[in-house]
Amino acid sequence: MTVPGSEVVPAADDPLAPIAARLFQPLGIEGVYARTALYEGVMERLGQLISRQRDERAEVLRFPPVMSRRQLEKSGYLKSFPNLLGCVCALHGTEAAIRSAADRFESGGDWTTALAASDLVLSPAACYPLYPLVATRGRIPEGGLIFDVAADCFRREPSRSLDRLQSFRMREFVRIGRPEEITAFRDGWMSRARQLADELALPYSVDVANDPFFGRVGQIMAVSQIQQALKFELLIPYHAQAKPTACMSFNYHREHFGQVWALQDSRGDSAHTGCVAFGMDRLVVALFANHGLEIGRWPAATRAALAL
Ligand code: ATP
Ligand code: ZN
Ligand code: MG
Repeated sequence: MTVPGSEVVPAADDPLAPIAARLFQPLGIEGVYARTALYEGVMERLGQLISRQRDERAEVLRFPPVMSRRQLEKSGYLKSFPNLLGCVCALHGTEAAIRSAADRFESGGDWTTALAASDLVLSPAACYPLYPLVATRGRIPEGGLIFDVAADCFRREPSRSLDRLQSFRMREFVRIGRPEEITAFRDGWMSRARQLADELALPYSVDVANDPFFGRVGQIMAVSQIQQALKFELLIPYHAQAKPTACMSFNYHREHFGQVWALQDSRGDSAHTGCVAFGMDRLVVALFANHGLEIGRWPAATRAALAL
């Protein structure tokens, strides 16, 4: 008998198939998994390792998995990634209207046609809610600001690959201030990330990258992003023949969010922003894929770094 949902684990020829079952349990949807204690134990230690890297000035904020639809629209997300966005829909209206929509399901009909968009979207990255929040506080002080944020993120990119989830966790350090403060922050993190990968005994490369902008216009945006070297990634291969997976990204948004949210730096110019994103689930999978399922047999350096 086929258990409903059992088809959404990696294909048998996927080199990660043997470890997948110890890390994830299927929930009936591609890219949406229950996580095992083994997996979450490492996730916790990795989170603590990242906390130890935090700048002492950083303000810590944890965001829920949903955010204001209005704010994400204003951020320009629909111009760049409309295909990835998940919007929360709900049944609105009178009790009778909601009842009749719900009853359609019971009678084998389609209740979802009665859904209407709410004022919430699923956060596609951890830093979007931060900029409008900071904008409510007035001018950015001299020296700029730094934050440690995290959220459960959603992107509509169903896949059977364990490195492409629809629901995944993102942790970010975000810098807001003058252009030179952002570039120094990003450059510093690009070398710190290499050290961290070394400490974890993970193979890696760092390369310039582009966001997967939607459609034909998106291709032009991607070329321009690469030309301006606005995005870099730390890539880790999951196995010997694998195309490396982007596990961290280092992003310079220039004045984009500063202009959208009227964020002013200490001199009254549009603030610049940048972020360093840790793809938490991809990093944990990278650890198991490279070091195996027996944590006791992981390299001593890795265990020391994670205090395992
Ligand atoms: P990719 O090119 O692989 O789609 P991205 O450029 O869309 O990645 P970012 O927007 O920079 O990724 O997101 C920050 C980090 O979040 C990525 O470096 C990655 O580690 C993680 N991430 C992004 N999308 C996913 C996903 N679908 N599943 C798991 N982790 C993800
Ligand atoms: Zn970000
Ligand atoms: Mg992507």
